[in-house]
Amino acid sequence: MKVRDHIAKAIEANKTEFSFEILPPLKGQNINTIFDNIDPLMEFKPPFIDVTYHREEYIYKEREDGLLEKKVVRKRPGTVGICAAIQNKYSVDAVPHVLCGGFSKEDTENFLIDMDFLGIENVVALRGDAVKSETYYKPNKNGNIYAQDLVEQIVALNHGTYLDEDLQNSAKTDFCIGVAGYPEKHLEAPSMESDIHFLKKKLEAGACYVVTQMFFDNQKYFDFVEKCRAAGITKPIIPGLKPLATRKQLNMIPQRFSVDVPDALVMEVVNAKDAAAIRQVGIEWCIQQSKELKAAGVPVLHYYSMGKSDNIRQIAAAVF
Ligand code: FAD
Repeated sequence: MKVRDHIAKAIEANKTEFSFEILPPLKGQNINTIFDNIDPLMEFKPPFIDVTYHREEYIYKEREDGLLEKKVVRKRPGTVGICAAIQNKYSVDAVPHVLCGGFSKEDTENFLIDMDFLGIENVVALRGDAVKSETYYKPNKNGNIYAQDLVEQIVALNHGTYLDEDLQNSAKTDFCIGVAGYPEKHLEAPSMESDIHFLKKKLEAGACYVVTQMFFDNQKYFDFVEKCRAAGITKPIIPGLKPLATRKQLNMIPQRFSVDVPDALVMEVVNAKDAAAIRQVGIEWCIQQSKELKAAGVPVLHYYSMGKSDNIRQIAAAVF
């Protein structure tokens, strides 16, 4: 089933659904590490589960002659395989994330064909970030530049238009497309207005819904939705939530994702006596956020599990 239909069903039933995002395991681990994290969350009946995509990284290995050798590695491969495994094992819709960065349009087309053959009906279309060793995002040669371009390519395939113009009477795919939105503005965007302008373009290109970047202050989400609606965006905007889990994240999250952590939460983390207490602070904060968003009538609450589900389970048990 399409995510847009899950959302429409939730709205009609005046219900808030639970969903979450997982990361593929690090290369060398097996798929049971994923199942072990999904199993405890299944009692909350997620209608869909997102699986992130991780692009290549460059690492430098010292050779015997002392020179450095640049190697391209992918530390978390397996997005498509995991999606197929999830659909098979749990009969839940799996939503792979698809990136512009690291892909030529040809790679993207082949990736989409694989997913279509596996019965995957939903994707989240993203630009992706710069590779870790580079300061700025660089699009691939012959690749999509922005998420909007990727949405356009997926929509073209949904109409049966492939890159090879000589292909006649080609099969049409039927993907429902989600895109990312940023309640505190994307870190590269010069202003909130321009970011919302381009978000609208992604939706006009054919995306069906928005999932937001994490936020720790619900007012940022409510203000963002209001601005989007004022700009003429009518499609659903699903809040993405991440429970803060470690002291290190207090500095890492604002820097990496360009989101604020409210002072009250900072002080609770600073005053917590140990790692377990910090994790509990993050859980309680996220429960309060979730309850307020649910009361406001959001159709889905989407949690970033970052590969560990114990805290998401506690939150879901308190909210759903
Ligand atoms: P875009 O929508 O392309 O926007 C990127 C920037 O360019 C913005 O500042 C925007 O305002 C601007 N812009 C957009 N269109 C134009 C245009 N036509 N002209 C000029 N400027 C423009 N990353 C991963 O690597 N893997 C994942 O699985 C993943 N999942 C994510 C899930 C969610 C819900 C979110 C919020 C983020 C996720 N990311 C993931 C991170 C994402 O790839 C980065 O935030 C990336 O920097 C931007 O992606 P985007 O799709 O929002 O980009």
